[in-house]
Amino acid sequence: MAFTIAIDGPAAAGKGTVGRQLAAHFGYAHLDTGLLYRATGRRMLDGAGAVEAALNLKPEDLKAPDLRTPEVGQAASRVAALPEVRQALIDFQRAFAARSGGAVLDGRDIGTVICPEADVKLYVTASDEVRAARRLAELSSTGHDVTYESVLADLRQRDARDSARAAAPLKPADDALLLDTSKLTIEEAVRRAIELTEARMKK
Ligand code: C5P
Repeated sequence: MAFTIAIDGPAAAGKGTVGRQLAAHFGYAHLDTGLLYRATGRRMLDGAGAVEAALNLKPEDLKAPDLRTPEVGQAASRVAALPEVRQALIDFQRAFAARSGGAVLDGRDIGTVICPEADVKLYVTASDEVRAARRLAELSSTGHDVTYESVLADLRQRDARDSARAAAPLKPADDALLLDTSKLTIEEAVRRAIELTEARMKK
């Protein structure tokens, strides 16, 4: 049976970690949809046309080593504002969501556009400062030379662009459950997401 969990929220709010662990808990598949936009942005930086790149994404593109950098994140956010790019990536995401055995997708428009019928919708947030501190730790631990200020500015700029765009802007679905992870550990955030999901399953 297909069971879909949609997770949306701003950059570095913990969507990926919560999504991955929620999927592991329930035995579902997990798709970080940000990777699709990052891989498209990466190819654009290499000189490809954005729409062409999105239409021709290959599984190995999603494994490129530098997809997590702020530079690629910014490129992702720019190509993600193009309706033709979003359109090119819809079918793959919807097919993933409909797979039997259950799926968790995280991104910006999963509950609003990709899977408006999702069984569970979570909107994961955290304060700007907490998100910047977490992303800084992640980038520093993987050898990137970045400052707290630059990471904070990068997140804010991407969130502003993602929220203001006309095509599938970042916003919570009307029926999304809010999960603010500012004061939660990873374990607490995941536990809370599991509780919210189980409560929906019982309905
Ligand atoms: O989630 P992540 O930060 O990796 O996403 C990178 C960028 O991809 C976001 O800033 C956003 O512009 C775009 N994105 C999107 N819709 C999604 C997932 C990501 O527009 N479902």
